[in-house]
Amino acid sequence: MKVEKERALQEHRLRFGHEGRIYAAPARVNLIGEHTDYTGGLVMPMAIDFKTVAVVSGRQDGLAVFYSANYEEEVSFEIASLSRAASGRWSDYPAGVLWSLLEAGISMAGCNVSLMGDVPLGAGLSSSASVEVATAMALLGHSGIELPLEKVATLCRRAENEYVGAKSGIMDQFVVAGAVAHRAMLLDCRSLAFELLPLPDQVRVVICNSMVKHAVATGEYGNRRDEVEVGQDILRRERPGIELLRDATLEDLEVCKGKMTEESFARCRHIITENGRVLDARKALLDGDMGKFGELMVLAHESMRDDFAASCPEIDGLVRIAMQQPECFGARITGGGFGGCTVNVVRADGAERFVETLKREYSTSTGIQAECFVCAPSDGALELAAKGGVS
Ligand code: ADP
Ligand code: MG
Repeated sequence: MKVEKERALQEHRLRFGHEGRIYAAPARVNLIGEHTDYTGGLVMPMAIDFKTVAVVSGRQDGLAVFYSANYEEEVSFEIASLSRAASGRWSDYPAGVLWSLLEAGISMAGCNVSLMGDVPLGAGLSSSASVEVATAMALLGHSGIELPLEKVATLCRRAENEYVGAKSGIMDQFVVAGAVAHRAMLLDCRSLAFELLPLPDQVRVVICNSMVKHAVATGEYGNRRDEVEVGQDILRRERPGIELLRDATLEDLEVCKGKMTEESFARCRHIITENGRVLDARKALLDGDMGKFGELMVLAHESMRDDFAASCPEIDGLVRIAMQQPECFGARITGGGFGGCTVNVVRADGAERFVETLKREYSTSTGIQAECFVCAPSDGALELAAKGGVS
């Protein structure tokens, strides 16, 4: 679905009979720092140029009415009696955000919110955080309230964790709300301190959807989290000063080796080394050294494959093909694992050729048509001016 500001405003006007204010939130991809967020570690995502727009206007009957152009469906809630009741449908995301704002003591008057997004749904680009943050911006704008980035992200995360019921870290909502164009974001998931890092204009980030999602994904994802938790608990018990895996070194882990399963040991080793790679990737960006950055991506991929055991043959194939292309600096799996997308950093002037070769060779070896998106780091959530061209 193509998202155009004028069209979104016009559809809102036709549906609800009011002029609305319009807000936009992007999607995101994680460049490096996988499975580090829920143990207080480091991630380096960026926002990408897909977006969800939310148009908001007032109404007098105390209802919050959400319409999604993607689903062509309208759902209403009585604000005064809104309770946490997930339905398993798209409306859980905006209703969850409303619930989270009310829980935080923010008062909300009746409103119409229409949503329209061009973020591929369920592809691992976080359409969920995009729709949450766009909704939060619209609801907060409607109430005349401005909140700091950290608060917006935390409220949206709470909606996803507690209303929708999805276990996600803070990364998605934080970068979708706070990203800046031309910059990647280094985020400390414990303190929420962040740093914006330059990504040269001469590179593009290519996201490649392998179109496979292995059936093991849901169960195995849970297992990985359990294996990490157990390892973290042992480290916490055995080594003073360790509160989260984030605090542990490889030496700490080595000392505890005999006390944990081989699996827990390997999962923890991935996370500890991955936090280190994020810091090295920061230095590479500050030095403008994309070759080094690419090497770190490949090391991160190997660690996800070998220590975290969360890759799969199709994804490994995509990374292998990517690394044979002269314009590619680095490639790795991105997201939870067991399928989904790869992220590739490539020379801007070779991006189109890269995409063609990757798709062709992947299709030859697997018979699958991959979907690729050429992206550049975009701005986080914004209010769009009501007047002006299509954006
Ligand atoms: P991802 O975040 O990787 O895209 P999720 O399963 O976490 O996948 O979130 C996708 C869900 O978010 C969709 O199934 C839908 O419920 C909701 N969603 C995303 N964008 C929209 C939209 N524009 N309108 C309504 N719901 C949306
Ligand atoms: Mg999601």
